[in-house]
Amino acid sequence: MAENLVELRDIVKEFPVKGGLLQREVATVRAVVDVDLDIRKGETIGLVGESGCGKTTLGRMLVRLLEPTSGVIRFDGEDITHVKGARLKPFRRRMQFIFQDPYGSLDPRTQVGDSIAEGLRLHGFDDKDERQERVAEMLELVGLKRAHAGRYPHEFSGGQRQRIGIARALILRPDLVIADEPVSALDVSVQAQVLNLLRELQGELGLTLLFIAHNLAVVEHISDRVAVMYLGSIVELTERDTLYANPQHPYTEALLSAIPIPDPSLRRRRIILEGDVPSPLRPPSGCTFHPRCPIAAAEVCPIETPGLLAVGDNGAHLAACHLRTGEHQHLNRALYTD
Ligand code: SF4
Repeated sequence: MAENLVELRDIVKEFPVKGGLLQREVATVRAVVDVDLDIRKGETIGLVGESGCGKTTLGRMLVRLLEPTSGVIRFDGEDITHVKGARLKPFRRRMQFIFQDPYGSLDPRTQVGDSIAEGLRLHGFDDKDERQERVAEMLELVGLKRAHAGRYPHEFSGGQRQRIGIARALILRPDLVIADEPVSALDVSVQAQVLNLLRELQGELGLTLLFIAHNLAVVEHISDRVAVMYLGSIVELTERDTLYANPQHPYTEALLSAIPIPDPSLRRRRIILEGDVPSPLRPPSGCTFHPRCPIAAAEVCPIETPGLLAVGDNGAHLAACHLRTGEHQHLNRALYTD
């Protein structure tokens, strides 16, 4: 098994909530709760969950755009949790972020060649000719033309702009790329092209990729493993094929049931979850999924918080559900689907 590039241990992120005339802190939101996650060198992990589940916050902490409230972040064996300033710079170069909205992250008055070269300038590539050559090569690598370097963002389509966003992220040849919903703002017809590009580049450049998405359909073909998040916690983590064939957490099952099947002769029973995602300001007691869970057991689910435990004897499949792992499995029942 490959070594870990990233190790997250007991990661918590809290944000203060301010209120009143004096804008005093009146409460705390726990956006990420006790997350443990290893990302192996060269693998792609899909991180999936509904909007507000903490997945973007987790990705931003990983590249140190945000500092965790507690916990440890190790990158290539080094503890970078509280590393700052000049000491952080070499790590920053090795980890890059692809944003959901490439247009928002590009300066409309700057030629895209200069935007792509920005990282090179910041990291001491002072030779202008070398920068231009690297930018031209990168444009070709992401399926654009060298001549595009002299154009402005508004001259490109959404899919092309995301290719520019990818070029910006890869120009420094990082080891780790966090792609935060990189295709969700694109037309469906363009999504597949950008996904294929990311997959090709990941293999060609040996990247380690954390791919954040709000639905399981998007990450299916690109991921080696998939982590599902709900209300700040990882509730299921396993190999891609295992997750899609044999999901264990009822939330994962509901997300999977929402993916349309292309073959009209096959029908997947849709699991409709009742209610909205609860506010992280007032998370439900016990298993935070219990108010929406179709198989919640009243004697345990609202009372005890389930740990992320191994399913069966296979340590490669983890789920946080009392009825599927641990001592309460005798309460297990199939998820009703009709
Ligand atoms: Fe549902 Fe209970 Fe499992 Fe939570 S622990 S997912 S409420 S069955």
